[in-house]
Formats: sequence, structure tokens, C-alpha cells
Amino acid sequence: MTHKPSTFLIVGAGFSGAVVARELAEAGIASTVLDRRSHIAGNCHTERDPETGILLHRYGPHIFNTNLEDVWEYVNRFAEFGPFVNRVKATTSRGVFSLPVNLHTLNQFYGKTFSPAEAKAYLATRGDPSIDEARNFEEAALKHLGRDLYETFFRGYTRKQWGTDPRELPASVFQRLPIRFDYNDNYYDKTYQGIPSAGYTELIRRILDHPLIAVQLNTSYARALSNGFIHTVYTGAIDQFYEYCEGHLGYRTVYWDRETHSGDYQGVACMNYPEESIPWTRKVEHKHFAPWETHDQTVVFTEYSKESGEGDDLFYPKRLKADKERLAHYQILAQQEPRVTFLGRLGTYRYLDMDITIAEALALGKKLGHQLGQNGISGPEK
Ligand code: UDP
Repeated sequence: MTHKPSTFLIVGAGFSGAVVARELAEAGIASTVLDRRSHIAGNCHTERDPETGILLHRYGPHIFNTNLEDVWEYVNRFAEFGPFVNRVKATTSRGVFSLPVNLHTLNQFYGKTFSPAEAKAYLATRGDPSIDEARNFEEAALKHLGRDLYETFFRGYTRKQWGTDPRELPASVFQRLPIRFDYNDNYYDKTYQGIPSAGYTELIRRILDHPLIAVQLNTSYARALSNGFIHTVYTGAIDQFYEYCEGHLGYRTVYWDRETHSGDYQGVACMNYPEESIPWTRKVEHKHFAPWETHDQTVVFTEYSKESGEGDDLFYPKRLKADKERLAHYQILAQQEPRVTFLGRLGTYRYLDMDITIAEALALGKKLGHQLGQNGISGPEK
């Protein structure tokens, strides 16, 4: 390690690691942030495409959306946000529809001219009233939307994205998407939305830009690297930390085919393909994430999902029953580890959005900084 003496070792230079490092730095505590990749910002990484100049969301679309005022203020300290509203479309054999399900989707799908109240009453007749409390994704969709909408927009997409039967997935995954009875086609329901106009990597670079933070890229973590640091904050996968001694936790990984075209390829940033007969889940046209920029060319990523294997980047924690049982074993090991704290989507194996990730990292950074101040160099209590 070249940057001693740092007090904390932080593994992972995504939002979790960067925000903790910054909170510690502002409390006067130094840290070294490691990342196994050649860049910071984790799966939020954005880069200017050398061929077209378009800002690419290298690991898939990231649209910042939050109701947390303090988190919105925090990210705005480090970046200027361009106003972006995600208006997702879905291509099906019956036509192109608007998502999330809204009044336009319903009227188009059923060939009606419903008012909001009429659509609500009609959808209540399509939903399955026998489902009292939805126990899984499929039951939630059948209860609220009924079979036709579920099978057209959700069943195939979910099977492709998660590689599992929607009955195995929690209802909470379905409930991420709103159902609306007006023409609001904003994908998110959150108060604050946007995309950093210089990209997420620049935002995170500014968070890390502090004299008490040293960043070391291309460095895979090994236990011995924690020696000499009083505490490690680990934002990598918890099963990997323990060398999979309790078995692998299930993750989906995502991969893309890239195409460059001239002009406008699909007229929107995100076009979903919910039908199971189409092998990809969606096509993402990156220049539409920055409508304040002008580009003659366009870059399109066709997105596929598969089970993660050795060395793959990890995206979606599956959290099936067996995964949760394994996780409980890893959590017991983690509790016996006073000098390591696990954080973030991979460290805690939860389907976290960027805003919650930041909120949790801010809270942890404050707590560790405070404890260190009280305990001197003996290090923080967990
Ligand atoms: N989903 C779907 N069809 C769609 C879009 C989403 O079935 O066209 C389901 C899918 O299971 C997904 C979930 O809804 O995992 C939540 O979607 P969201 O867009 O929040 O997923 P993310 O942004 O995390 O990829």
C-alpha cells in the first residue's frame, strides 16, 4: 500500500465507498479507497465515448430519483444535475405502449377512452380479488393488474431479467413500479429526479477529491490488505469476502451489444421488450439521457441478463429463499468481525437504489467518525 498512514480501508469506489470516505475525511479521518476495476464509480460509471462523444452509462442506465431532501442536497453539492424524466416505452407484438402502466397504457391496451375514475373501476374488475395479501411478484401483479397486463408487460420481462419464475420473487420487486390512472408517464414517483450533466464518474471523482482520501485502482481486495488499518468498510460482495464458505449468493449480471447509428435510433432512452420470445430485455439509447447535448450519431446498447458466474460484474441480488438462508450465515460471521463493516448493494446483498445507498453511507460515515473521535485510535465499536 502506498498511501499509509490511512486510518480506514474502504473497499469499493462506488457511491457507498466514496460517500463514507468523504464523511470520514470531513471528520478529519484519512482513508484509502481500493477498487479492483480501472475506474471509480462502480456500476454507475459513465464515460465519454471516444467515437461519438456521447456520455455512456457504461453499466446500464442510472437515473437519479429520490424523495430524500438531504441526499438530493448532498449530490447537488458535487454535481450539476440536468433535468431528465424517464419516459419508458415497451415494444410488444400488439404495439408500443407507455410504462409504467398509466391511463394511456390502459386506454391503448383495452381500446377504450376511459376517464381516470373509469379506468380505475375497470382495472379493479381485471385484478384478482381472491388475492388478499400478495406473497410474491406474480400475485402482486395479478392482484393489481390482472392476467392480461401481467403477461404482456411483466411476466416475460421478469423471467428474462431474473432468470426465475416471478412466483419466486418478492412482491416488493413488482411494487417498485407505480400504476397510474392519469397520463403521467414519468417512470418514477420521486420528488427529485435528474442525471449529473458531467456524468456519475465526475460526481464521484469530486466526492473523493479530498486531501484525506487516497484512491487506488486495479487492486483486488485480500484480507491481508486490511492489516495496518484500524477498520475496513467493505462494499464488495459479502459472499466473496468470506471466500464463498457458505456458498454463493445468487446475482444476475447484465451484458450488452453495442451499435452505433446516425440520427435517432428509437426516439427514447429506454425501450423495453417484455415478450419472452425476444432474447434481450431492453434497448438503451444513451444520448437521450442528456437531452441538453447534441450529437449526430447515436449509441445503442441492447441489454441481456444472465446468471452471474466467476468474474462477472454483479448487478441484481436475487434474494431467493436459499440466498436469504446463506445470507443469514454470512451475517452471523459479519457480526463476529469488529473491524469490518459491510455496506451497499453488494455488501449487504439488498436491491438498493442510489439514493438509499447514499443515505446509508452518510449515516455510517457519521457513526464511524463519531465513534473514532470518542475511542481514539482503538477503532470504532460496531
Ligand atoms: N419489469 C417488468 N417489465 C418492464 C419493466 C420492469 O416486468 O417493462 C419488472 C422487472 O421484474 C423489474 C421490476 O419490474 O425487475 C422493477 O423494474 P425497475 O425498472 O425498477 O428495475 P431496475 O431499474 O432496477 O432495472
